Amino acid sequence: MITSARMLWTCHWSSRRIQRYLDAERGVPLSADEARRLEQHLAICEHCAALADEHRLLRRVLDNLSQRTAPAPDAVGRLHERLDRIIAEQSP
Ligand SMILES: [Zn+2]
Repeated sequence: MITSARMLWTCHWSSRRIQRYLDAERGVPLSADEARRLEQHLAICEHCAALADEHRLLRRVLDNLSQRTAPAPDAVGRLHERLDRIIAEQSP
């Protein structure tokens, strides 16, 4: 049984890596150990799994936009700032 304090810390750890995990082919990928640990947490944590879904949705929206027209760099920057704020607010 995982303690709630440890779970909270793992949520914090995971929320800071979800974006890197999903953007592995674009940015700096997680190490194999980090990716495995994150996948194990996403499998048992609804909160972080929902956060990962939001990131995936945002990626799909951005990919769709970029296939039609390149999104304005400042708009993408604002979206990233917004996501960073959401992550910061949700982190313990
Ligand atoms: Zn979590």
